[in-house]
Amino acid sequence: MSAPVHVVEMTESERNHAFSVCRELANEFRAVGPRHDAENSFPHEMAARLRALRLPGLNIPKRFGGWGADIATTARCVELLAYGDPAIALGFNMHFGVIGFFRGMWSEQHQARFFPGVAQTGHLFDGVYSETRAGVMGLADTRAVPVSGGFRVSGRKSWGTLSLATDFHTFNATITNPDGQLPTDHAQRAAREVMFVCPATANGVRIEKTWDALGMRASGTETVVFEEVFVPEADLVSSAFRSGLFANLEWQTLSFASVYLGLARRAYDETLAIIRGKRLGAVSEAADVKVSEQQLVQVGVGEMCVLIESAANCIEVAAARLNEGRDLPEDPSRRLGWLEIPKVVSTENAIRVVDIAMRLVGGGAFRRGHVLEKLYRDARSGPFHPLTTDQLMQHLGRAELG
Ligand SMILES: Cc1cc2nc3c(=O)[nH]c(=O)nc-3n(C[C@H](O)[C@H](O)[C@H](O)COP(=O)(O)OP(=O)(O)OC[C@H]3O[C@@H](n4cnc5c(N)ncnc54)[C@H](O)[C@@H]3O)c2cc1C
Repeated sequence: MSAPVHVVEMTESERNHAFSVCRELANEFRAVGPRHDAENSFPHEMAARLRALRLPGLNIPKRFGGWGADIATTARCVELLAYGDPAIALGFNMHFGVIGFFRGMWSEQHQARFFPGVAQTGHLFDGVYSETRAGVMGLADTRAVPVSGGFRVSGRKSWGTLSLATDFHTFNATITNPDGQLPTDHAQRAAREVMFVCPATANGVRIEKTWDALGMRASGTETVVFEEVFVPEADLVSSAFRSGLFANLEWQTLSFASVYLGLARRAYDETLAIIRGKRLGAVSEAADVKVSEQQLVQVGVGEMCVLIESAANCIEVAAARLNEGRDLPEDPSRRLGWLEIPKVVSTENAIRVVDIAMRLVGGGAFRRGHVLEKLYRDARSGPFHPLTTDQLMQHLGRAELG
């Protein structure tokens, strides 16, 4: 059994230290982000900085040598990083999110085996759980054929965020029949979906550089291919992949939410800085027009503020309830739905915030290279993170209707 997951271990001064490290690193993200976006490249130099700062150990429990950040602190750190550059933050957020999963999904022995390397050496992990057929919702087509001492794994994971920089891939696969075939019985197939970990350098693992997307270009979301990879029995780290993942999904829902909250705050500040200094000069109605004095502009800024603060409050309340162990549904399915709400609010609000920002700032924001043009593209990926907005709506509606 693993120890309780939602515990507050850091003191206030340790938390403030973590926030200040993230604020400083965010400035570095900010400096290199636009170039990596333009070149569609992964910021390997930022992975080195993360390791140098020992930040990979952020939410590793203290008993394994980590910083011991709880979910609220982790979410706030991710928000600060995303303020600098949301795409780079989304990349490293994958590591923080999966470490959170493992705290709940992995046995104490597995945590003791892998977590000290994260805390001391800066090992990075990814979570490649989605395939082309049906994203993370599809049962794994990746096959783990039982062989002496372990499994031979083959499959393709098409959404490997951070995979270019990770030391270990974690992935889901379905244990096949001895003849290598997937079980034909659906229930049996679902029961055989497990989580493995394997070194990024293992024989038969390779990255295919397929990432060329509208936004989040510096997140390094490449395809991870497994070709007859031998995975020892000991590296099967969870025999209940799907239920374990969804029982701990808050580590991703709140941290994804925080990426898009940081993005929205950045769009807000950039917009205010532009609008405050913008004068139209002489137009037919007046000799000079100050944009900030236009009522419609003021209303737009107010609306952005409402959207941002409602997302922030949603994240903070969910994290506080987790840390305080209160006011959450006990039923796992309802709990999941409830904890997905901040992700949907934050990602959808971020899209709306950037949309308003572009209207207020004007046509210049439509030009390639404008800060809002990049934030607009990055914001569009929010609803795709699991549960997608539509999946959550259906999930909640079905539960409510009985
Ligand atoms: C930038 C980015 C980074 C990502 N990084 C990772 C990563 O590191 N690891 C990883 O595993 N995945 C990652 N993903 C993939 C992400 O998890 C998937 O996009 C997500 O699971 C949805 O999968 P899909 O887009 O293939 O849509 P599908 O699952 O194919 O869904 C297609 C459509 O059907 C709807 N739908 C599907 N199932 C249901 C349902 N049960 N109820 C209602 N509607 C449904 C969806 O809402 C959608 O409209 C990333 C995605 C993005 C955009």
